[in-house]
Amino acid sequence: MAKKIFLLVTSLFIVVTVVFYNHQFKPFQGKDKTKETVTTTSSTEKKETVKLPGKVDDWNLVLVNDATEIKEEPKELKALPDGHEVDSRIYTDYLNLTEAAKNEEIDLVIISSYRSVEEQRGVVATEIAQYESQGHTHEEATDLAMKYVTVPGHSEHHTGLALDVLDTTWYNDGHLLEEEFGATKVGKWLAENVCHYGFVIRYEKGKEKITGINYEPWHIRYVGKENAEYMYNNHLALEEYIDQLKK
Ligand SMILES: [Zn+2]
Repeated sequence: MAKKIFLLVTSLFIVVTVVFYNHQFKPFQGKDKTKETVTTTSSTEKKETVKLPGKVDDWNLVLVNDATEIKEEPKELKALPDGHEVDSRIYTDYLNLTEAAKNEEIDLVIISSYRSVEEQRGVVATEIAQYESQGHTHEEATDLAMKYVTVPGHSEHHTGLALDVLDTTWYNDGHLLEEEFGATKVGKWLAENVCHYGFVIRYEKGKEKITGINYEPWHIRYVGKENAEYMYNNHLALEEYIDQLKK
């Protein structure tokens, strides 16, 4: 008899425990999970605002845009296999990018790389001369030319850290630097992968007011691997990233 009562009490205890668990423990676990997620998010945000991978005066973060003229042209250039010159410090990373592309059956073509301030002056002079030959005054010709050509000293190509790249399929189809390139398989691959080799798509869609330049899915700019990944993951234009570094 005592054994029966003992069994009954034990069974009752088990039932009560299970009911209590279902009502109390599960919802509690749910709440705890939410709390945990919130904590993780806020600690990540905190980490990001405190520790940015770059420093504002790093050589690979040099800013050249409409408002900022280049101060010093690259000291050491190195010619890539196709003859295009870049700052020697980005040579290997660019080759690694082309190798990674090749593994995806993408054959990158460089359209433009380093361009000196002097060469840019030549481009401007040629444009102006062309308009003058069409009967425009020197002033009119200058205004017309400057609508399409970057002011010497203000092109990112002067840094030796920027390249305009397409792929052979697009190029051989007769296409050049066109916005639609961004929607191609290669354009998308570049957007997603250049950061692993230290590059960013410098002039993104939606950032025109910040960069002063229209969307250019072909213009890649070296900033170093850590900066590039940070900028890519946080959707930051170089101007915005530098502003964060200054804070
Ligand atoms: Zn470019």
